[in-house]
Amino acid sequence: MSSPWNGHFSSLELVTSLAGSARRVVRVGDIEIGGDELVVMAGPCAVESESQVFETAKAVSRAGARILRGGAYKPRSSPYSFQGLGVEGLRILRKAREATGLAIVTEVMGPEDVDVVAEYADIMQIGARSMENYALLEAVGRCGRPVLLKRGITATLRELLQSAQAIAMNGNLDIILCERGIRTFETATRNTLDIAAVPVLKTVSCLPVIVDPSHAAGLRLLVPVLSRAAVAAGADGLLVEVHPSPDKALSDGIQSLNFEQFRVMMRDLRPYMAMREHAHEIEREIAK
Ligand code: PEP
Ligand code: MN
Repeated sequence: MSSPWNGHFSSLELVTSLAGSARRVVRVGDIEIGGDELVVMAGPCAVESESQVFETAKAVSRAGARILRGGAYKPRSSPYSFQGLGVEGLRILRKAREATGLAIVTEVMGPEDVDVVAEYADIMQIGARSMENYALLEAVGRCGRPVLLKRGITATLRELLQSAQAIAMNGNLDIILCERGIRTFETATRNTLDIAAVPVLKTVSCLPVIVDPSHAAGLRLLVPVLSRAAVAAGADGLLVEVHPSPDKALSDGIQSLNFEQFRVMMRDLRPYMAMREHAHEIEREIAK
């Protein structure tokens, strides 16, 4: 690796780009994450019911999303909040995949749930609060499914890559890194989107990098503009919360888009695709 960060990310050789090593493209069916196309993953924060998931799946698919998100196991800040439907939620996601052809990404919270989640999910999501759960990282390293690894709420990029390395050391290099905002002194947004994480990770690592503007912003008004910034910075994909009636959502409604807002956001991203390619060219130049 030769870059302005030479040395900073040393000893993470499985997930950093070594001279001559190819970029990792994570394949899910015919979807390529880390390839030429921007891959959008969208859906509700939590699986609430079959009709909620089906309606959302159809709407996000029509707007151009390729992957359906939805939590069946929810890490909630308050123990009094909705905790998710568990296996029943996974069954609903599977049915939505059969009905729409969308692939499924869903969170796994503990090593004991890895086998059951891997039965239903196409991509295993490791949430921000679990980024340092090493028993879970080991278990998803052996599960045979791609992993979407979210940056911890107070994690540095080196720490994110250390967790990716832990997954890779267990035999799984199909890892998608996700910048979802970090905790700073700013309180006007739920988290602070670290947009520089995109070019840094794209330069020092061989893994695809996506952005979750929903948990970064915490407010639906900001989601489209943060998505445009992410695409212009070279992100390989987006993870966006969408709900049929955000005001009635059982979790994260305040940052969820409705179907029309998501459709408009997807339409308005198009002019940013050329900037995304330009960002990739510059990153390749820096990495030389
Ligand atoms: C989520 O994707 O709904 C979620 C809980 O995200 P994070 O782990 O980034 O907070
Ligand atoms: Mn959420």
